[in-house]
Amino acid sequence: MPLFNNKIQSIANLLNAKSELADVHQTIEVLATDSRKISNPEQTLFFALSGQRNGHEFIPELIEKGVKNFVIAEDEWLKKGLPVNFLLVNDTLHALQILATAYRKLFSYPVIGITGSNGKTIVKEWLFQLLSVDHQIVRSPKSYNSQIGVPLSVWQMNDAANLAIFEAGISRPGEMQVLESIIKPTIGVLTNIGAAHDEGFVNRQEKLEEKMKLFDHVNLLIYQKDDLQSYKGTINADKKVNWSFNDKSATVFVKEVDRKINHSKIIAVVNGKEQQIEIPFSDEASIKNAIICWCVLLALDIPQEQIKRRMKELAPIEMRLKLRNGMNNCTIINDSYNSDIGSLEIALDFLKQQQQHAKKTLILSDIVQSGSSPKELYAKVAKLLYAAKIDNLIGIGPEISSQAHLFKLEKEFYNDTEAFLEQFTASRFNNESILLKGARRFEFEQISKLLEQKVHETVFEINLNALIQNLNYYKSKLNPGTKLMAMVKAFSYGSGSFEIANVLQFHKVDYLAVAYVDEGVVLRKSGIKLPIMVMSPDVSAFQGMVQANLEPEIYNFRILNELISFLEVNSKREYLIHLKIDTGMHRLGFLETDIDKLIEILNLHPNLKVASVFSHLAASEDAAEDGFTATQLAILKRVCIKLENALGYTFIKHICNTAGISRHPEAHLDMVRLGLGIYGIDSAVKNNRLLQPIGTLKTTITQIKDLEPGDTVSYNRRGLITKPSRIATVKLGYADGYSRKLGYGVGEMLVNGHRVPIIGTVCMDMLMLDVTGIDCRETDEVIVFNEELRVDELAEKIGTIPYEVLTGISQRVKRVYVYE
Ligand SMILES: *Cc1c(COP(=O)(O)O)cnc(C)c1O
Repeated sequence: MPLFNNKIQSIANLLNAKSELADVHQTIEVLATDSRKISNPEQTLFFALSGQRNGHEFIPELIEKGVKNFVIAEDEWLKKGLPVNFLLVNDTLHALQILATAYRKLFSYPVIGITGSNGKTIVKEWLFQLLSVDHQIVRSPKSYNSQIGVPLSVWQMNDAANLAIFEAGISRPGEMQVLESIIKPTIGVLTNIGAAHDEGFVNRQEKLEEKMKLFDHVNLLIYQKDDLQSYKGTINADKKVNWSFNDKSATVFVKEVDRKINHSKIIAVVNGKEQQIEIPFSDEASIKNAIICWCVLLALDIPQEQIKRRMKELAPIEMRLKLRNGMNNCTIINDSYNSDIGSLEIALDFLKQQQQHAKKTLILSDIVQSGSSPKELYAKVAKLLYAAKIDNLIGIGPEISSQAHLFKLEKEFYNDTEAFLEQFTASRFNNESILLKGARRFEFEQISKLLEQKVHETVFEINLNALIQNLNYYKSKLNPGTKLMAMVKAFSYGSGSFEIANVLQFHKVDYLAVAYVDEGVVLRKSGIKLPIMVMSPDVSAFQGMVQANLEPEIYNFRILNELISFLEVNSKREYLIHLKIDTGMHRLGFLETDIDKLIEILNLHPNLKVASVFSHLAASEDAAEDGFTATQLAILKRVCIKLENALGYTFIKHICNTAGISRHPEAHLDMVRLGLGIYGIDSAVKNNRLLQPIGTLKTTITQIKDLEPGDTVSYNRRGLITKPSRIATVKLGYADGYSRKLGYGVGEMLVNGHRVPIIGTVCMDMLMLDVTGIDCRETDEVIVFNEELRVDELAEKIGTIPYEVLTGISQRVKRVYVYE
C-alpha cells in the first residue's frame, strides 16, 4: 500500500501543498536543493530552501535550465503563469523531510543509522567496503548527514538494494528526532562521544541524550561501552554489541593493539575467545573506527575468518577532491578512491568550475556496486557528462567499454588500467583539466603519478569549502543588493590565482580586485569573466590592461591624463574606471580639494565612465578610531554626491574592507571589498568560530636523532640540549617563507597532534623540532599552521600580521586545493 508514487500530483497531496500544476504528468526521480547541481532537470523536484541564499531567487535560472517542478514557500510565484509545476507549502525544508519520511516507508530492508562525534563518514564508508561482498548497499553520499543531507540520502533507496547505511549529524537539540523519523534505522551505530558541537548543548549529557534519540526504535545497537557508562536514559534495542579497552565484560574487550608503521594488529576477547584482526593503518582514529566496524560485522553474524580477511583490505577514505598542477600545463583533479554516481556528480561539478582550460577530460573506471543494470547506469553517466560539458572521455574497465556507444563525445576505452598505461605518452595531454575518477581496484594512483607534477613534500593546502563557507558568512552580513568585491591581489593573499577566482566566480561575487595588471591578465587567460579592478595600473601595462578589459583604479591626475592620452591613440570606446578618494589613509587617492578639477576633466572626456568611487579605511578594526572612520565615511559620501550631480549618472560607492564589514554595517554602501575574511581571518573578531582559515601549511620529518646533554643543534650552536632529547629535522625554512624570528623555541609546530617547539636557528630550507616524548617517525607529517595552530597566532609571536605571513609563503611551496 504505497502512500504515494512519484507523480507530481501524488507528491502534492502528500505534502498537503496548494499546487499550481502546468503538467500533472511529471514524474520525479531526483530531489535537489542546490541550484548549481542539477543534472537531470526534467525529472528534478527543486526545493526552494531559505538558507544563507534564498532558494526562490534561483527559480527563473532553473526554469531556463529545464527544471519543471518546484516546492516553494512564497505564494507570488503561483500568480506568474509560468509553465512549470509549483507546490506551495509553509516550510520547504519540512516538506522535504516529510517526503523523505514517506519514501523511507516503502522499503523494508535493514537500515544502519550512524551517529557520533567523529568518524561517522569513515565508519559508513568502511562498512560499505566491508559489506559490499554480500550486500547491495545504498548509502549517504559523502557526508550528507544534516537536516537537508539526510532526506536527500534516504531518497537514494531503491528496490535493487538490500541494505542502507546513513549517517546523522546534529548541532542543536531537537534535530535528531527529525532525522530518526526520516532514517528509521533498524540497526544503530554510535561511533563515539567527543567534543565536536559541544557549543550547541548545555552539557555533554544533553548532547549524548540527543544523539541517542536516533536509536529509539533500533533492534540492535553497537557502541563503545565506556561512552554509555554515564547514560541515564533507557536503551530500547533488544541486542547490544559493545567494545572497550578497559571493561572485560564488553562484547569485544580489546586487550592489545600492536602498532607498526601503516599496520596494526588488534587483539580482543570476543565472547570469551581470543580473536584478532589486522588493518593497514596505525593511527588511533582508524583503530577505533575499525573496532566499531568489527562489532557491526560480528553483530551481522559475518564469520570471524571472513572479517579477518576483509579487514586486511580496508582502503583509506579520501573524502576530498585534490586539485593540483600537472604536466604540460594541465590541471589534475584526483578522486581515485571511490566511484559511485553520487561522488561522480560532485566531482564533475567541481570540474565544471575550472575555467582555466577550454578542454575537459574525464578518465573514468567502471562504476562498481550501483545496483542498476550497466545500460541504465551508463546512460545516466552519459547524461551527466553531457551536462558537465566534458570534451573527452577515457573509459577504463570492461563494463564501461561495453557501453561505449552511449557516449556522444570524443572517447576511447581500455579494458584495464594497465592497457591504458601501455600506450600512455606524456605529450598527449596538453593544457586541459583532467578529472581522474576510479574505483579502488583500478589503482588510478598509477595514472595520477604520471600526470601530476612532482612535489617535494612541503605543501600549502587550500580548503575551497572553507573559502565558500567564509564567503557565505560575509554575504549573510550584507543587505540584499549590496555588492561584493573579492580581493585576490598578491596571489589571493598567498593562496592561489585562478584556482581561487574560479570558485569566487562560481559562487557569484560581483567584482574581483588585483594589485597589478599582470595578475588580472592571468585571470582573464584562465577564463575569468567577472569585472576586475586593478589597483595599481602601471602606465607601461595599459596595453595589456585594455586588451584584457581590466578596470583601472584612478588615484591622481597623472594617471588620469596618461589614460586619457592612451585611449585617444588606441581605443575610442567607452572605458570603465574607478576613482579612489583619499579620505584619511593618505596612501593613494584624490583629495576632496581635487574634486572640482577632476569633474572638469571627466566632463571633457565622456568616454571615461566612472564605474565606482571608493575610499579605504585606515583603522576599521580599531574601536578607538571609530570617530576617524566616521569622518572618512562622511568625506566619501560628500564627494560622491558632488560627483554624481556633476556627472549626471550614478556609480557604485564603497569603503569597507573585511573588518569594516564586521564592525561598520552603516558603511557598507553599495559594495564592500572583502579580503582577509574570505581566507578565514578577521582582525576585528579574533577566533570567530563561524570563519575557517582556509590554508594548512604542512611539511614532513626527514630525519630523527637522539641527542645527549651538551649537544647543540643548528647554526652557531644556539640550540643547546640540556636533557636526553629527540630532535626531528623538517623540510621547511626561511626560503619557504617561515620567518627566522620563529627560531629558538618561539615558534611551534604540530606533530601527530602535539605542539612541539623549534630548537635552534631556522635554516634556509630546514629547521629542527624538539619531539622528545612524542610518538613520531621519519616521513610523518608536520603541520606548520592550520585551523588549530593558527596563522594569526604565529604572526602575533613575531610582531606582525597574518597578511604578511600568508603572502610571504614562497612560490616554491606547491599549492594543493581540496574540495569536498
Ligand atoms: C587589500 C585591500 C582591501 C581588503 O582588505 P582586508 O583587510 O584584507 O579585507 C580592501 N581595499 C583595498 C583598497 C585594499 O587594498
